Amino acid sequence: MTKHVTHWIGGKPFGGESDRRGDIFEPASGRVAGTVDFAGPREVDAAVAAAKAAFPGWRDASLSQRAKVLFRFRELVDAHRGELARLISSEHGKVVSDAAGEVARGLEVAEFACGIPHLLKGGFSENVSSRVDAYSILQPVGVAAGITPFNFPAMVPMWMFPVAIACGNTFVLKPSEKDPSASVRLAELWAEAGLPDGVFNVVHGDKAAVDGLLRHPDVRAVSFVGSTPIARYIYATAAANGKRVQALGGAKNHMLVLPDADLDLAADAAVSAGFGSAGERCMAISVVVAVDPVGDELTAKIKERVAGLRVGPGDHPESQMGPLVTRAHRDKVASYLDGAVAQGATLAVDGRDPDVLGGAGDGFWLGPAVLDHVTPDMDAYRDEIFGPVLSVVRAGSYEAAMELISANPYGNGTAIFTNDGGAARRFQNEVEVGMVGVNVPIPVPMAYYSFGGWKDSLFGDSHAHGMEGVHFYTRTKAVTARWLDPSHGGVNLGFPTSG
Ligand code: NAD
Repeated sequence: MTKHVTHWIGGKPFGGESDRRGDIFEPASGRVAGTVDFAGPREVDAAVAAAKAAFPGWRDASLSQRAKVLFRFRELVDAHRGELARLISSEHGKVVSDAAGEVARGLEVAEFACGIPHLLKGGFSENVSSRVDAYSILQPVGVAAGITPFNFPAMVPMWMFPVAIACGNTFVLKPSEKDPSASVRLAELWAEAGLPDGVFNVVHGDKAAVDGLLRHPDVRAVSFVGSTPIARYIYATAAANGKRVQALGGAKNHMLVLPDADLDLAADAAVSAGFGSAGERCMAISVVVAVDPVGDELTAKIKERVAGLRVGPGDHPESQMGPLVTRAHRDKVASYLDGAVAQGATLAVDGRDPDVLGGAGDGFWLGPAVLDHVTPDMDAYRDEIFGPVLSVVRAGSYEAAMELISANPYGNGTAIFTNDGGAARRFQNEVEVGMVGVNVPIPVPMAYYSFGGWKDSLFGDSHAHGMEGVHFYTRTKAVTARWLDPSHGGVNLGFPTSG
């Protein structure tokens, strides 16, 4: 039996007219598990029209009404987290416990958004001039669109829509076509939570759907998370069409290990952060920078741990790492191993042909791989591989390591492992990267901080969720008010100043 996933518009499933569809794979078996409808201009127009029609009513809903819907949505996602995790695992490939982790992190943003009455408080200044008051109010922007990647089909959309909706906007989500089911389940939970029809909509598809949203005159704000080339395109196209835009791109996250670090802790962290979700995380560690003389000892400890990792289907209770998302992606990731060796790296662990719990069948399997003696001129270093390949680079000093990390065009996340507080403080001050971990390998900020990288990892100036999310999804209005007073001073052509 195969499933059929369609759009969600105006509070219900929407079949539309487009006859374009994509396959949904089950990466662990390689079989086609279903199909997903791809939106054309009509479906995009219908979704934006539904969102536009719902906007005035939702904008005017009281803050406590909006917060109540958010609280109910939070409870429903919490109650269904196991089901959502299994759904994500079946289409993405990641292990169920990891999928449950992404639902939990998305839920934290919904929890943050439950505090919207507090978050939307503007400022008030009494007597900015004689008997004149000034205040600011935060108003929703209108219809917001979110375009999201395959690797976190629940969490990344939830970085966006709970905040956007809590602020009084309406939303059109275009999730990844590779694992589209979680977004529809979330739409059903919104409806059950009492969100008015049309406030949250989902259109599926590819570039055609995305371009429709980027050019639609009624879409006011665009949030994107995905690879850097597409982020750059989204930023330029949405901005050229007059929209505010935040576009989060790809990553190449370095973990700096100083000679004084606890190497067992560092090796545990490198393996956990390098191979969790098969390296398909934007905050995965993909490069370990070992400062001399610890390279050999650290690589040996990493190899020891990698040898114990269990690869298998996401729903197998002993599996720690699942398959990659598609066969094409698996093959591309695997190609970096031969490429790096040809360019002079050492293949410390070869992930091809892994032992798979329950048998590999036709699944998209690649085991954990470690490349040692990688140098910055190699493709394996320069490209975002986005798979279970960990590179070890050797550096002669802290300064050389810092130069390497800061020179990298990506600037999403980085981490330092050391027992020297002064070195850690210097690192957090100097490094040209947006999210920094100190003895923490995946420094994903909590929902009440904001998520976002620097340089080619973010186009635009607003990071996701936290107060930056609230600012992205609102426009500030500044009001200056004087109520009639018998002492008003008559005509005055001078420029208003305080006094
Ligand atoms: P992707 O860029 O291929 O796709 C992202 C979205 O853009 C999808 O919805 C897709 O349908 C759409 N898209 C793809 N090609 C398009 C085109 N030519 N025109 C318009 N839209 C297009 O990314 P992916 O492979 O789904 O996800 C993995 C990437 O996302 C990695 O690079 C990863 O680092 C990045 N990512 C970044 C963050 C972050 O916070 N910076 C978080 C998660 C993932």
